[in-house]
Amino acid sequence: MALLQHVSFVPLARAMRSRSLTLASSTVAVPSLEKASQVDSRVLLGMSEKELQQLALDFGQQSYRGKQLHHLLYKRKVKEIQDFSHLPLAFRNDLQAAGWRVGRSAVYKAVTASDGTVKLLIKLEDNRLVETVGIPVEDDKGAVRLTACVSSQVGCPLRCSFCATGMGGFSRNLKSYEIVEQVLAIEELFKKRVTNVVFMGMGEPMLNMKEVLGAHRCLNKDVQIGQRMMTISTVGVPNTIKKLASHKLQSTLALSLHAPNQKVREQIVPSAKSYPLDAIMKDCRDYFLETSRRVSFEYTLLAGVNDAVEHAIELADLIQEWGPGYHVNLIPFNPIEGSEYRRPYKKAVLAFSAALESRKITVSVRQTRGLDASAACGQLRNEFQKSPLLPDSDDVQSQLGIAVAC
Ligand code: SAH
Repeated sequence: MALLQHVSFVPLARAMRSRSLTLASSTVAVPSLEKASQVDSRVLLGMSEKELQQLALDFGQQSYRGKQLHHLLYKRKVKEIQDFSHLPLAFRNDLQAAGWRVGRSAVYKAVTASDGTVKLLIKLEDNRLVETVGIPVEDDKGAVRLTACVSSQVGCPLRCSFCATGMGGFSRNLKSYEIVEQVLAIEELFKKRVTNVVFMGMGEPMLNMKEVLGAHRCLNKDVQIGQRMMTISTVGVPNTIKKLASHKLQSTLALSLHAPNQKVREQIVPSAKSYPLDAIMKDCRDYFLETSRRVSFEYTLLAGVNDAVEHAIELADLIQEWGPGYHVNLIPFNPIEGSEYRRPYKKAVLAFSAALESRKITVSVRQTRGLDASAACGQLRNEFQKSPLLPDSDDVQSQLGIAVAC
């Protein structure tokens, strides 16, 4: 702990969000600057209205300034403190002098597919790139839903065999504000509100649960996206589903199953060895019992590997054994460079789906969006970033189209 000697440092001290500060004397103990920057705590994005009001008070402002901050961050989506023109210049200067920043990053590249899907590469402060996808979908009544498919990690350590993200390796977890900003970037680009969020971009959300929960809270309370409009997708990490269930979120849990039995699953998902299928099914059942929210099973169909009708029958038996409350979402494999897997024939997808339906399992087939130009989750990022990113490598503006598996 460093000692700061002057009252004039009070905003700085508060700015570090140390809850245990005493302001009675002119000497204020705060965490060292170095430590504070390591924990990256002076970022406005991700803070609740109440926290922003407290921050305003800490800076000697009235609490309604906090409400204004909230509006500027989440509604107006202003990216720089200096552009908070509703706020007094002195307050803006104090915030900046104390090391505060908004926490928004630049969009490095945006690629649009002919179906309107847009994939963004966001360049983070440490020059790493993360993917996020905006998917507009028109419903039967002509209303357009906008889904943001967000990343929770830079890369992924789990290396599912068909996934481009895993092939690109793992760099680090995202902070909650780095997840939230993806949604704001999509809203800005489409000039409309995001209606749905799926944590199905790069990374494994359950390996970054604290930040994912923080982002979920902020997206729900501050960006105002209904909990029921959000889905958290996991390939299954032992001891995490129960923990997630204890938060009683009203969001859907998507479990990336990809196989009807342990043997096939281990071939496809290396991490399956440490989390047997029965244990996963039990945890999913408990999630349903705890939250009353149905679990959705994601099943990537790989031609000749897991897409036979026999697999569908085995899957139906497995699901029925564990009770009601499940849905299956079939995802035809989206080809990625360097993979030997093949995309299944449409006929196989239909037969698989029909076999489930005839056994009373609700099923949907995910439309592959943006496949017109290429690729899947993580592939666009892999094109641009061989970890870490070479700074400003504009010469790599390839002729890529869009890459979407989400
Ligand atoms: N790690 C989490 C979330 C990221 S992947 C999870 O595994 O659920 C999100 C979904 O996209 C997963 O269901 C995954 O299986 C699927 N996916 C990834 N790459 C794919 C590809 N090339 N083709 C089809 N689906 C893919």
